[in-house]
Amino acid sequence: MINKDIIEKLKKKNNSIILAHNYQLPEIQDIADYIGDSLDLAIKATKNDADNIIFCGVNFMAESAKILNPDKNVILPDINAKCPMAEKVDKNLLEKLIIENKDAEVVSYINTTTEIKAISDICCTSSNGVNVIKSIKSDKIIFVPDKNLGNFLKKYIPEKEMIIWPGVCPTHNRIHKNHILNLKKLHEDAIILVHPECRSEVIEISNHALSTNGMINFVKNSKSNEFIIGTEKGLCYRLKIENPDKNFYPINSAICPNMKKITIDKVINCLLKNEPCINIEKTIMEKARVPLEKMMNIKRGD
Ligand code: SF4
Repeated sequence: MINKDIIEKLKKKNNSIILAHNYQLPEIQDIADYIGDSLDLAIKATKNDADNIIFCGVNFMAESAKILNPDKNVILPDINAKCPMAEKVDKNLLEKLIIENKDAEVVSYINTTTEIKAISDICCTSSNGVNVIKSIKSDKIIFVPDKNLGNFLKKYIPEKEMIIWPGVCPTHNRIHKNHILNLKKLHEDAIILVHPECRSEVIEISNHALSTNGMINFVKNSKSNEFIIGTEKGLCYRLKIENPDKNFYPINSAICPNMKKITIDKVINCLLKNEPCINIEKTIMEKARVPLEKMMNIKRGD
């Protein structure tokens, strides 16, 4: 059994805080100081006076926290917790695309590596993507790396040309229309909420496409009691904790194995040793900070 008192004592001793993404295991969400989506956690990382930030998520999230807080110790409990979609963007190919399209601005989803952020004009998350994309002055946009999110955002700027990188999140791309329709047959009154990283045919049959925090706010304010949740299954834990009288129907196969690499034992190890730390070379970190800070100035859209 986890002794929460021990974790609290260790946090106080080292002036540490624990940030956890909405997709983390229930036991990690239970010990976190803040739970949220990528944008939320990036903001939380900048607005606290802890010396050590233990980031329970995947590496691009911890790297973003480090870029925005270069003087703090940002610790990722498992250095192998990586987002496969972020890792797959080839920097050389993107640079070639940028040279071929000199008039385009590069919008990179926060789910990218630091080196890709460093050659981007602005970042976005799924919660402020629409507002970011609308803020772009250029008539041409290169969007990396999620083609599902890119196609979703393109609908908001039909007059512009958008070159969309062909990446996908394997977890969200695994959600098919039939998963949703089968749940809907069982729960006719349920509202369908899906993440914009889902395939377009899944988004089309949903009631709303929202970021994870967007879903949390929607459910809280909704009079409905039943929801089909088309995103990583871990979100349903937080939804149920915050809305015990409502029912949530997840897609059971929508599990991100990288998010689940963070365990209590690894978090305790971080609290004891203050490692493994995120270290980023100064020049690339300064370049990557520019698009991230630009993004932070754009409000959420959900
Ligand atoms: S859920 Fe998808 S986008 Fe998020 S970390 Fe996992 S693979 Fe990457």
